[in-house]
Amino acid sequence: MKNEKIKIAILGATGSVGQKFIELLADHPWFEIHELAASEKSAGKKYSDAVNWVMQSKLRKDLAEKVILNCTPVLESKIVFSALDASVAGELEADFAKAGYVVISNARNHRFDEDVPLIVPEINSEHLELVNSQKFGKGVIVTNPNCSTIGLVMALKPLYDNFGIESVNVVTMQAISGGGYPGVPSMDIIDNVIPFIGGEEEKIEKEPGKILGSISGSKIDYSKINISAQCNRVGVIDGHTECVQVKLKKNATKNDIVNAWNNFSGEPQKLKLPFAPVHPIIYLDGEKYPQPKMHRNLENGMAVSVGRLRECTLFDYKFVVLSHNTVRGAAGGTILIAELMKAKGYLDKYL
Ligand code: NAP
Repeated sequence: MKNEKIKIAILGATGSVGQKFIELLADHPWFEIHELAASEKSAGKKYSDAVNWVMQSKLRKDLAEKVILNCTPVLESKIVFSALDASVAGELEADFAKAGYVVISNARNHRFDEDVPLIVPEINSEHLELVNSQKFGKGVIVTNPNCSTIGLVMALKPLYDNFGIESVNVVTMQAISGGGYPGVPSMDIIDNVIPFIGGEEEKIEKEPGKILGSISGSKIDYSKINISAQCNRVGVIDGHTECVQVKLKKNATKNDIVNAWNNFSGEPQKLKLPFAPVHPIIYLDGEKYPQPKMHRNLENGMAVSVGRLRECTLFDYKFVVLSHNTVRGAAGGTILIAELMKAKGYLDKYL
């Protein structure tokens, strides 16, 4: 690559994840935001007029002035980050891929296409090979998992590799920003817990099987990990907390498990990718940790915090996992995938 940064476009730039992309990419060493796209309702407007900016950082002036484009595959940027609503993402992302774009998506629609990788860069970077035999033609689609899946599967991976996993039970307490902007009405969420998030339990039960699976030719052999999930929406702005119980295949002491978490790292750390957390999993000793308000921003929101490891009377062990849903669980995770693809040469022919 020349010394220029890679131009990228954000599809769904006005939403919860779209805004997080803008905030995180502000000073990225490799990528620069060239185009912003959203629905017809926003297209043609200046970004600052169309968006209700809810990030804690100031919106960059040059981006505030950018005119929002339609999500049609006539953009100049060949790499597009999708934060599109799932009701439209399936078709629009396929249109972009067919037209020769690299789409890295947060939406659920293509996650289970046989030839589309579902990537957590520390866990299954080798699954990117699937793009070499994709059906879309000139372009490709790569997907980022569900926000709760990412925290869970990161915490499970070192246990899966070292001790094997027989079964998992998980109960989530998910932040409001996970439902997009404006999300659940304040009258529904203040002073309340909502014990239902549409489609979420199925995603958490199914996605880890693909992520922990192994690549065989042009498809993934799923891992037969057995997971039961219950999901709740709680009055936290950012950060999904998950109470996990796990039954292992081999015996492990508490120390063995904490060491497995503390020693875990993957391809992003080896390649020293700009968004790679130095410690992807951080075990916290405090008996009241992890907590979203205190720990969601560890390693710039890219680390997964784990705590309260103890023996379980029903399973072998139980513990608590916390991860930032719009950073590690969405925009930051997607940027890390893009960095991995760049470092491994998957973007070369599109630049
Ligand atoms: P959101 O706040 O509702 O934003 C949705 C975006 O999609 C907006 O920019 C919206 O643009 C755009 N859009 C809607 N209809 C469109 C259309 N017909 N054509 C083009 N653009 C359209 O949702 P979000 O929370 O950012 O989530 C985005 C995606 O990421 C979803 O698929 C979600 O499931 C996934 N995800 C979210 C999280 C999270 O923590 N929030 C985590 C992981 C994955 P307008 O403003 O112009 O309507």
